[in-house]
Amino acid sequence: MTDIVATNETILVVGGGISGMTAAIEAAECGKDVILVEKAPSLGGRVSQLYKYFPKLCFPTCGLEINQRRMKANKNLHILTLSEVTNIAGDSGNFTATVKTAPRYVNENCTACGACGDAVTAEVDNPFNYNLDKIKAAYLPHNMAHPQRYVIDPSIIGTDEAEKAKTACKYDAIDLDMQETTMDLNVGAIVWATGWKPYDAAKIQPYGYDRFDNVITSVEFERMMDAFGPTGGKLLRPSDGKEAKNIAFIQCAGSRDRNHLTHCSRICCMASLKQTTYLTEQYGDDEEAKASIYYIDIRAIDRFEDFYQKVQDDPKVSFIKSKVANITLDEESGNPVLHGVDTEGYHRYSNPHDLVVLAIGMTPNVDISEIASGVSTDSSGFIQVNVDNGGIFAAGCASNALDVNRSVQSATAATLHSIQVVNKVSAAEA
Ligand SMILES: Cc1cc2nc3c(=O)[nH]c(=O)nc-3n(C[C@H](O)[C@H](O)[C@H](O)COP(=O)(O)OP(=O)(O)OC[C@H]3O[C@@H](n4cnc5c(N)ncnc54)[C@H](O)[C@@H]3O)c2cc1C
Repeated sequence: MTDIVATNETILVVGGGISGMTAAIEAAECGKDVILVEKAPSLGGRVSQLYKYFPKLCFPTCGLEINQRRMKANKNLHILTLSEVTNIAGDSGNFTATVKTAPRYVNENCTACGACGDAVTAEVDNPFNYNLDKIKAAYLPHNMAHPQRYVIDPSIIGTDEAEKAKTACKYDAIDLDMQETTMDLNVGAIVWATGWKPYDAAKIQPYGYDRFDNVITSVEFERMMDAFGPTGGKLLRPSDGKEAKNIAFIQCAGSRDRNHLTHCSRICCMASLKQTTYLTEQYGDDEEAKASIYYIDIRAIDRFEDFYQKVQDDPKVSFIKSKVANITLDEESGNPVLHGVDTEGYHRYSNPHDLVVLAIGMTPNVDISEIASGVSTDSSGFIQVNVDNGGIFAAGCASNALDVNRSVQSATAATLHSIQVVNKVSAAEA
């Protein structure tokens, strides 16, 4: 970290999800000096937590691995993990960004051998699996983590557990004296790619996410399918561990709703359509496996229409045009029961399901106004891209609820703008 040198020809990328990784690589491969700052212990953002990507249904590991290889091969790129930008002062071509870095307690000697993880017994919530399971307090964030370096959870610092981890390490990689650091970086342009977070499902009280174990969110469902997820890749009900076969997907859960998020997150329909294919993957042609999509209207834009058509043709999947009014619990079976009116037949329903998946909306991760002044946001807090934000360029879901394809396109656009800024600086200094 101490070898980081930044100048006003440096491009700072904040957020190391797919958008930030793309922006950083593109700029570095154009020969620019780039610093990528990521808050989590590893790169990849929420894409690394997906089981599969629509529309091709491939694993995200594939796209991430290509990016990781490009990053490793580029000497212009410096990566700071466990770091966040807390303040930005100055102007286009001459910013001072304050970066705060939390201690990892593990240095670059780490070979990810796992001996520290084996040595400790303490466990902490596993953020990679949305806290649905526990992980050892000395852990690798996930299999594809970049950097491949363990983290010691701060909760065990000062305890015997931390000492056990240190003693187990053959590579002198554990440094329990690491402290939080803060530094100021002089940079010329900034790509802001801090992404999105899921809307807090507990706020949608009629759906009982905070009361009913078998009501989960779409992001949690993604983790369930993963062999390294909380259920080892099985669709098991949180309440009793029984296989979930009759699954309801509720669209616009908290979206397009003046009480919650007024905007449409665009992705949720495609995410649920994708998730119905997980049932086929899990249960083959088992007739008990059923997906019911409760929707206001399905928004599957341009080429995604073909994907939608394929799902419509799947006999396992039915579509109920209805905004679900509320969910109650059938105490005996543990089944959530969905109540509402089917607007295509105008009859009331009370439908029990094994599991309910809320297609939750996306909100910006960071309120940029707390960090930099003069950056315009829309009414949902996403950074506006078609206005002059004075040398700060938003990429990916920091600018809107976008799929991966569009996030990557927007990251490339942001990179181009940031390169123009630093090129101007170097031309002026030549
Ligand atoms: C249920 C669901 C399923 C989806 N499935 C698909 C799919 O199949 N196909 C598809 O194309 N899209 C899918 N998406 C959309 C996809 O997740 C987004 O397009 C993608 O995550 C956007 O990447 P990003 O880098 O912009 O943001 P993120 O993935 O959110 O990454 C942002 C990064 O910034 C970091 N960060 C946050 N705050 C700070 C800070 N203050 N300082 C430094 N770093 C910070 C975060 O830790 C994170 O690493 C899905 C979305 C949902 C809700």
